[in-house]
Amino acid sequence: CGIVGAVSTRNIVPILVQGLQRLEYRGYDSCGVAVHASSLEAARQGSVPGGLQRARSTARVAELLEQVATEHIAGATGIAHTRWATHGAPAVHNAHPHFSHGTGADANTTSAGRVALVHNGIIENHEELRAALQARGYVFASQTDTEVIAHLVDSHYSGDLFDAVKATIAELHGAYAIAVVHKDEPHRVVGARAGSPLILGVGQEGSEHFLASDAMALAGVTDQIVYLEEGDLVDLQLGRYWIVGKDGAALTPAQRPVRTVQ
Ligand code: GLU
Repeated sequence: CGIVGAVSTRNIVPILVQGLQRLEYRGYDSCGVAVHASSLEAARQGSVPGGLQRARSTARVAELLEQVATEHIAGATGIAHTRWATHGAPAVHNAHPHFSHGTGADANTTSAGRVALVHNGIIENHEELRAALQARGYVFASQTDTEVIAHLVDSHYSGDLFDAVKATIAELHGAYAIAVVHKDEPHRVVGARAGSPLILGVGQEGSEHFLASDAMALAGVTDQIVYLEEGDLVDLQLGRYWIVGKDGAALTPAQRPVRTVQ
């Protein structure tokens, strides 16, 4: 239903959750946020834990805000979602972000996540993909179509999240806008769209970058918006972003111009 994502140098949790509040009017049954805590200086110095952290709720976004405060969830890189369930009941374990914990010893779903992912839309071939992933040792923690995407990203990952997402979307049939974070890349969010809207927001100092399903989610944060087109893949990092079109070619700023929204 609603997506917000960010790569920044400051704690981005308030902006992610406020972004969800701006999308609440669309309706939702659950919500959640995941951050890469290692993106913050305090975690790099070892004074707070690093890695992927998550909070999810079937209550209002306002309660998610309380939950992130109580659980001390903070990070400079993150993704957030309001869900309108299509596959799997409205419940905390089906709420996004979904994690992949990998296979083997890491597959224990209570361990820290390797991949965190939010998704709008429907994956039509989720049953075949789930069966193939389960055969390879992936353990599913939800009944959603979305969770297959998180495990596929993990299965394709060999050090570069953009390449892993690119290989993943080649296997998906259906409609999606996604935003993905990997535990080994604390300052990166990768997004893709096909059949569901996704926009990129350029932060005020040009070093922060945002993703959202609607520019309204970023009101008061940035008015510099790039409208992604069908089949686009986007790579958000600190101080730079990169958009690749559906034919795999990198796009120029003239092809995906930054527009000022009101
Ligand atoms: N199909 C996904 C789910 O049921 C995403 C729904 C949405 O767009 O919010 O979890």
